[in-house]
Amino acid sequence: MATMMAHRSCRPEAHGDYWSMPIDFDVAPVRIRVLGCSGAIGAGQRTTAFLLDDRVLLDCGTGVGELTVEEMAQIDDVVLTHAHLDHVQLLPMLAEVACETRMIPGGRGPIRVHALPETLEALRSHLFNGVIWPDFLRIPSVDQPTLTLHPFAVGDTLRLGTGRATRRLLLLPAAHAVPACGIAVDTAEGWWVFTGDSGPHDTCWSMLAGIPIAQLVADVSFPNEQAALAERAGHLIPATLARLLQRLPGSIPVHVSHLKTGDADRVMTQVWSIDTPHRVSRLVREQRFEMAAAGDAVTDAVARAGR
Ligand SMILES: [Zn+2]
Ligand SMILES: [Zn+2]
Repeated sequence: MATMMAHRSCRPEAHGDYWSMPIDFDVAPVRIRVLGCSGAIGAGQRTTAFLLDDRVLLDCGTGVGELTVEEMAQIDDVVLTHAHLDHVQLLPMLAEVACETRMIPGGRGPIRVHALPETLEALRSHLFNGVIWPDFLRIPSVDQPTLTLHPFAVGDTLRLGTGRATRRLLLLPAAHAVPACGIAVDTAEGWWVFTGDSGPHDTCWSMLAGIPIAQLVADVSFPNEQAALAERAGHLIPATLARLLQRLPGSIPVHVSHLKTGDADRVMTQVWSIDTPHRVSRLVREQRFEMAAAGDAVTDAVARAGR
């Protein structure tokens, strides 16, 4: 099949080499659907989960409840940023659906769960322990369980998805109350970046300053008045976001997520008062991103820039 190639017309100064790279239009666009992005629950609120194309889930909070059974049955891979319940809560029930729909003759087979080793251990000990929920790490059989666990380290890259929708993901460092990471998805428009739950992490933001960013989703959980709590728990407040955004070149779309329900309006008032060239908005459930896919040449160039 012929591959259409084109060059982007816009070339921001900071990333000239990147923007001169070709786009591979033979690859399906990168699609990301926000299933949930709240830091707490309430009517109309769903906790963190993003659907990457049709086959990959990024975090598994209550947002997964937005998916139909048919959509859940398509999920081949789940990438978890950390073990907190608002990010893993529906994994046990997703496993139940997968057991019924995928672990049958001709079915798609196990879901691969990718996370830091500490996160995977927490799933084993505290969720799939036969008490909180049946052990789908051994059901329907030890040899063919519904979920298989795949550890990664910060800095690793994953190739997930299938065929024309195969994506490269980069695991970012994060500063949180438990071991955690962020996730970046490469696209021809730059990286789609999700910080995960994280306070200010110097290495992460140094790296973000050196790579082209298409979209940035950042955790800003608490208002400025709760700076001490945010520091202890590992989240940003508007004042720390303001300081970190100064490190990023250009004018990037920045989406604020993980707001705690009771303080959401106050947090956003403080966010909107930030004096910044970046385009800051509140991420909302069912928001969708679509970005041109990166060819391998682009991907490799960006990965080198990120090292
Ligand atoms: Zn957390
Ligand atoms: Zn969280």
